[in-house]
Amino acid sequence: MENLVTNDKFTALIDAATEGMFIIDSHGIIEVANQAVERLLGYDQAELIGRNVKFLMPSPNREQHDAYLSEHLRTGRKKIIGIGREVEALKKDGTLLQIYLSVGKYDDGQAIKFVGIIRDLSDLKRSEEKLESAENEIHELVNNLAHVSRIGIMGEMAAGIAHEINQPLTAISTYAKACIRLLKADDKQLDEVVLALDKIENQALRAGDIIRGLRTWIREQDTKREVSDCNSLVAEVVEIARMDARNSDIELQLHLDARPSSVVCDSIQIQQVVLNLIKNSIDAVNEYKLEKPDVKREILIHTEHCEHERIKVTVTDYGPGISDNDADSLFDPFFTTKQTGMGMGLSICQTIIRAHGGELGYLSNLQGGTSFYFILPTSIEIK
Ligand code: ADP
Repeated sequence: MENLVTNDKFTALIDAATEGMFIIDSHGIIEVANQAVERLLGYDQAELIGRNVKFLMPSPNREQHDAYLSEHLRTGRKKIIGIGREVEALKKDGTLLQIYLSVGKYDDGQAIKFVGIIRDLSDLKRSEEKLESAENEIHELVNNLAHVSRIGIMGEMAAGIAHEINQPLTAISTYAKACIRLLKADDKQLDEVVLALDKIENQALRAGDIIRGLRTWIREQDTKREVSDCNSLVAEVVEIARMDARNSDIELQLHLDARPSSVVCDSIQIQQVVLNLIKNSIDAVNEYKLEKPDVKREILIHTEHCEHERIKVTVTDYGPGISDNDADSLFDPFFTTKQTGMGMGLSICQTIIRAHGGELGYLSNLQGGTSFYFILPTSIEIK
């Protein structure tokens, strides 16, 4: 070892390394430490050489290290030698440094020695933390949007309607049964029937009022208008919908107009519309897969400026398209062709877009499928 320690080439070699390197004897005494160890842990060579390496370890390793060494020399059992491990080292300033420690063993002809190599993991840890916080942010965003979709405009409204409309519907059904009973009776009490029919009419009008009220309610949500970048709103939603699409093995392609696209809007509402259109497209492709397994599993979302200072957002899929039969009812409340559909999505989307001074529509693609789009005015204050 003396040879090595005093060998200039050896010293130059280990000092050139960016990783900390040291050699200890079989009692844990430091014989060699390169400059990287000094740099990483804040000690001078003179403070390191000749001391037991355990002083660089926090508890409980510090107290156990001598025993580790003697047990290894006695039994040959390896805990870290040749394996490497993520550990913490105690710096001179009392702080801890996350390191990856690799240990090798050799016999210099007179005694057993151990070589340790220290790699600083703090940058890696920082990147991991950054990644984790980015992931958390995305997670939060997803949760927020999921929350918004659940209890937001559509969910809240759907639940509200279901509840409110249930009352007139139950009443209608009760009066209808009464009518049938009265009409079947031997002594038909037509006055009573007329009375019940009157009530049915009133309840039906009430149900209609609930739906109209709902539409007004959406229009009245115009208070949260702010200038937003349409491209960013769309891109954010696409990132969120990507997970949903991936589960169905569908790829979302995003093409954004390169020009700035400020719109004055309630960004959550506009994001709801985009999300709803993408979800409808995912449903359409999923449904079509059963009939046409080789359906193109791609949904294109693109934004483009169009005339009169407006921006158009289009969601294109290659699903089954819209049949002529359904075309007229598509935007009607409660129109759905899905088993578990609510049929409120497009109706609410249309109300939102109209309230923003825009228009919502669709085109059938030549190569099959549908392109739903909406157009919004850019940068113009909307009343
Ligand atoms: P829901 O999704 O609950 O059915 P929507 O109002 O969002 O309610 O949609 C109404 C109907 O419009 C759907 O049930 C479906 O038949 C049709 N539809 C909507 N988007 C598409 C699409 N991209 N491709 C084919 N049909 C669609």
